[in-house]
Amino acid sequence: MKLYTIDTGFFKLDGGAMFGVVPKSLWQRTNPADSNNLCTWANRLLLIEDGKRLTLIDTALGDKQDAKFFGHYFIHGDDTLDKSLAKYGFHRDDITDIILTHLHFDHCGGAIKRENEKLIPAFNNAKFWSNEKHWDWAVNPNPREKASFLKENIIPIQESGQLNFLKEGEKYDANIDIRYAHGHTEAMMLPQIDYKGKTILYMADLLPSVGHIPLPYVMGYDTRPLLTMDERQSYWQEIVDKEYILFLEHDSVNECCTLQNTEKGIRVKDIFKLTDI
Ligand SMILES: [Zn+2]
Repeated sequence: MKLYTIDTGFFKLDGGAMFGVVPKSLWQRTNPADSNNLCTWANRLLLIEDGKRLTLIDTALGDKQDAKFFGHYFIHGDDTLDKSLAKYGFHRDDITDIILTHLHFDHCGGAIKRENEKLIPAFNNAKFWSNEKHWDWAVNPNPREKASFLKENIIPIQESGQLNFLKEGEKYDANIDIRYAHGHTEAMMLPQIDYKGKTILYMADLLPSVGHIPLPYVMGYDTRPLLTMDERQSYWQEIVDKEYILFLEHDSVNECCTLQNTEKGIRVKDIFKLTDI
């Protein structure tokens, strides 16, 4: 198995929304904000080459919404999905599978593109993997998440015939399990990968950045923040005990980290790149 980091650039989101009840005086130490209180976040994807399968985790925002929409998110940086794939000798049509951790626009927007006013998959040969619970939740969105579950990102995946569901507890592949978290949104999927004798956990929005490691640093976007705190407590302990490596989708600086017990609670241990493993 080979793993590749697929950098797709950066976007901005309100720092307060990203840190929930935590005061700015605390979070700005790790995640400085601009004059509009926006912090910079990465959309860092993971590509897994394993046997005949080439699996991408998440797709970032894509480019089909209008200028007004993207005006809110200040997309920037030199990397794109296609450039990063090309760097390793891949094309998007080589991708056989895409695991969508959840269907918020910054994770699945790139799955669908606009072509001659039609909305079609941006990956011709890929199966898209979600789960029934999350799919049902996303296509009938609650008022809180409605602005994150965009119909144009989601419905065309189903209409394309490329949508597949994993069952809870079902293994994705010999070396890849899917873990779940239900506090950010219903049934978010966290791929867990056995790699070079280590375990890598793709954190998606359970841990957006190293600055979010203290247990109460839960995003304001989470639908069930108390559940997120419980989930973090049990995941964080497991991560320390089993020495997992965490892959960070949204941290604008740090790619991978490990955790350790400290007097203050569980905190970061080491920070490194995927290529250092
Ligand atoms: Zn996200």
